[in-house]
Amino acid sequence: MKTYQMNNGLTIPAIGFGTYLSKDGEEVYQAVLSALEAGYRHIDTAAYYGNEESIGRAIKDSGIPREELFITTKLWNDAHGYEEAKAALQYSLDRLQLDYLDLYLIHWPNPVQLRDRWQAANADSWRAMEEMVEAGLIRTIGVSNFLVHHMEELLKTAKIIPAVNQLRLAPGVYQTRIVDYCKDKGIVLEAWSPLGRGELFSHPTMLALAEKYGKTVAQIALAWSWSQGFLPLPKSVTPSRIRENLDFQDILLSEEDITAITAIEGVTGAYDPDNISF
Ligand code: NAP
Repeated sequence: MKTYQMNNGLTIPAIGFGTYLSKDGEEVYQAVLSALEAGYRHIDTAAYYGNEESIGRAIKDSGIPREELFITTKLWNDAHGYEEAKAALQYSLDRLQLDYLDLYLIHWPNPVQLRDRWQAANADSWRAMEEMVEAGLIRTIGVSNFLVHHMEELLKTAKIIPAVNQLRLAPGVYQTRIVDYCKDKGIVLEAWSPLGRGELFSHPTMLALAEKYGKTVAQIALAWSWSQGFLPLPKSVTPSRIRENLDFQDILLSEEDITAITAIEGVTGAYDPDNISF
């Protein structure tokens, strides 16, 4: 499995398995078991997804040694702050039945109830996360949905530079300013909704390229993600798709096709984190 190097010297598997909207219980349990059997070693969840407990059970039942796995979860919007973040991490670890996390992310920079004081809230959460790295409860810390002004604010007080920013990035969804900022700082860019949540599957450009390369639309989208240096997190609960979404690593897209994919139109763009309703 290809890996990316993070700015703290550790490596991260270059594809992760998404689990948002994979229902808690049998659905997500079977999906994660299928993913681990197919060869994924990096699982992405969040406290908000409400499925950490079933994912923890699947990890345990897979029998794969802990050190071969890379597990990410995220701090939800209701737990920003120093004490709150510490408690939230412990709660996630308990549900996942893990002693440590490979990656812990602040899920969103500007929760609606903190809109007048998100800066201090992120600084406090981050300080707690830095201490939890020190305490051995987390290997790597990062952020999600942070734009340049959120990053700049965080860096005013951060001792550890975020190693990862998880953003909505997919064909037709390219957040140039923050992407360039993160690349410049050596921050790994994880791509959420790398398949466009289904929107790409009927897109004419994607269909034509799938035909041209003899691959599926999902595989073309994932190959494009790698061509940009992104770390895609495809989600599926369907075993055949879970396998399909790993079988793109031999695709070599031409520069012309990469440009065409980057520029596709008609797909939902990224949300504005300062104006979302949660
Ligand atoms: P996605 O991975 O772009 O798309 C998932 C959808 O595509 C599901 O409906 C899935 O259906 C379908 N699908 C998957 N593989 C397919 C294939 N090969 N052929 C046809 N259909 C296929 O969307 P996402 O779940 O929104 O994003 C991926 C992950 O990113 C999430 O699961 C989560 O881990 C993360 N994420 C993070 C944030 C954040 O704020 N940080 C936000 C959203 C998502 P089935 O499952 O029915 O097979």
